[in-house]
Amino acid sequence: MHESSVEFLRCVRCGSRLELEVFTYDLEIEKGIFECQKCKLTFPIIEKIPILWDDFSEYLSSCKILGGKLYQLSNTGKMKNFLKYSLSKTKNQ
Ligand SMILES: [Zn+2]
Repeated sequence: MHESSVEFLRCVRCGSRLELEVFTYDLEIEKGIFECQKCKLTFPIIEKIPILWDDFSEYLSSCKILGGKLYQLSNTGKMKNFLKYSLSKTKNQ
């Protein structure tokens, strides 16, 4: 995603501004993590796509293969930890 669109994004839960941490950047943000400073909701940016989902674990529950794939693609400890945590909370395990 392009950096210019970051300022328009808001937390889907509380509507606050999001703090962005960029992990990889090549003309646009490829991987990163958004964190809401107010309610601590976290959103990943994976392969340039921001996944603004209220409950990322629930999102992964409906698509476990995606979770594993994302985990393989992630190259930073923080992203891996985030995915691992999200995966650990998925239902139907
Ligand atoms: Zn929030």
